[in-house]
Amino acid sequence: MTTFKDLGLNENIIKALTDLGYENPTEIQEKAIPQVIASKQDLKAFAQTGTGKTAAFGLPIIEQIDTNSNDTQAIILSPTRELALQIAKNIEEFSKYIKGLRVAAVYGGANIDEQIRKLRKGVHIVVGTPGRTVDLINRRQLKLNNLQWLVLDEADEMLNMGFKDELDKILEVTPEEKQTLLFSATFPREVESIAKNYMHKPIELTSGEKNKGSDQVSHQYYVVSERNRYAALKRIADVNTDIYSIVFCRTRRETQEIADKLIKDGYNADALHGDLSQAQRDSVMEKFRKKHLQLLVATDVAARGLDVNDLTHVINHKLPDQIESYTHRSGRTGRAGKEGISIAIVTAREKGKLRPIERIIGKKFVSTPVPTGKEICQNQLLKLIDKVHDIKVNETEISEFLPSIYEKLEGLDREELIKRFVSIEFNSFLSYYENAPDLNDSDQMRSGRDNDSRGKRRDDENMTRFFINIGRKDKLNPARLIGLINDQQIAKNIEIGQIEILDTFSFFELDKNYTEETISNFQQNDVSFEGRGVNVEITEKKRTGRGGGGPRRRNSGDGGGNNSGGRSGGGRRRSKDRKEGGGNSSGFGRKRSNPGDFGANKNSRRRKG
Ligand code: AMP
Repeated sequence: MTTFKDLGLNENIIKALTDLGYENPTEIQEKAIPQVIASKQDLKAFAQTGTGKTAAFGLPIIEQIDTNSNDTQAIILSPTRELALQIAKNIEEFSKYIKGLRVAAVYGGANIDEQIRKLRKGVHIVVGTPGRTVDLINRRQLKLNNLQWLVLDEADEMLNMGFKDELDKILEVTPEEKQTLLFSATFPREVESIAKNYMHKPIELTSGEKNKGSDQVSHQYYVVSERNRYAALKRIADVNTDIYSIVFCRTRRETQEIADKLIKDGYNADALHGDLSQAQRDSVMEKFRKKHLQLLVATDVAARGLDVNDLTHVINHKLPDQIESYTHRSGRTGRAGKEGISIAIVTAREKGKLRPIERIIGKKFVSTPVPTGKEICQNQLLKLIDKVHDIKVNETEISEFLPSIYEKLEGLDREELIKRFVSIEFNSFLSYYENAPDLNDSDQMRSGRDNDSRGKRRDDENMTRFFINIGRKDKLNPARLIGLINDQQIAKNIEIGQIEILDTFSFFELDKNYTEETISNFQQNDVSFEGRGVNVEITEKKRTGRGGGGPRRRNSGDGGGNNSGGRSGGGRRRSKDRKEGGGNSSGFGRKRSNPGDFGANKNSRRRKG
């Protein structure tokens, strides 16, 4: 097996790597390090995040820095402040035994004068975001005339974020004879054009296939209706009892909304997006790194530079607009040799977006049914049992209470005791998911993808029955009623169930996922029929025979959004009567009372003032 020594690195660097626990080089390091040490040829490297690319470009540069000079010899450009700081920290760690080597990170949103002061002392390696770097060049505070290495890290992301002009400017002012190292996870046209315009006959390195996703990541998708997207997210979190995941959203608003809902529903979650101040973002990231949060709801941009290696899942609450972003998102899991799962929650209509992504990642998405209440209960129960098994008993403290406890429990045998102790926690799980509906989208069911017990045809369980105050006397017939329903544009191809036309009023059934839309669309459209104002209300399901009485209270539906309450902490919900369909959440396994572990989370809203 190749060692770092074989790659031509000096003892001081190897000592630092040993301190960091790096035993052997990763594939990209093995290829890039000797190349950059031996040759001044430009280099274009395909490298996903998590492949060890920072050391791949950092180590050979450190190896060659002349610490007797005060010149800036290397500049590393990165898309975000977080990533710049991370790279600078890595470089400091790699070079800690090299006397006099100076590194500085320069980035926007921080005091420029302090950064200038640091640069004036002579910094050998500058790590910068493109905007601030240009600013410092324009102020003549960052002098690059003796630059030897220019690294473009995550070049695709920098271009995605609109830094094209800044990159052009920096590339133009740096000396011709420097060596340019370009690292990118994907190679869309824009990246290729940077390489073409500014690099001279670059050597190409790839670790894994270019533009392809990591082998360590498997990709799953769940098809649900729009209404059930959030409920599906919760079930995914509930069934994976030790989930540690970034939930990606497309907009800041969506990010905050989902995070707020999760927090309200008792999950250890928080939001990370650009509306937060830098201090707020730092605090959220720190909590997530320390695993005080299990679910980090984030936008693509805000999550960049968050160095977390052991995510169990990446969840695409919504797929990104740009296909390449999916590679970046999914690349956040399956890092440093670990396996990970990238999940896409899609509606039937969004399913078409998966195919082009599959082409890019070179892998197939696996259709996965949304977990049933039973599966969730089973996983939660097993987790509870593991917890009981592993709990440390404080023998000294508990001993004085034991005699009276034994006395009280006298007469209960082992089986009975186990059942009762477990039921303390588990009854609430059972009642929460009792009668929990199937969240899989009916279109998927009909296409026969899932042929297990959940694949059965939609029946009246999935329908809401409505009362409508018009009937035969108003010249209503089934065809006209269907026309009237379609006119309300509730949802495309909405499923209509049983229709019952009576003399002065009628009943119809519709996909219960659109219950609220049905009511509100009829109200908002101010519908009239044959001169009569139309009124639609939810009515109880027909039980026997014909007829069915007037409007009554609606049945609760799943995924009906929000709730009150949440959890009282420590893994227990307040009311045993709550149901998923009622809009309350389980939050199973979310809030944990052990502060060293996944501690309770407090703040929800923290928008920048
Ligand atoms: P990067 O792709 O540079 O963000 O690195 C991903 C993670 O892998 C970081 O946490 C690094 O500290 C770690 N890492 C990089 N190279 C090695 C190595 N050769 N051995 C062990 N860990 C490494």
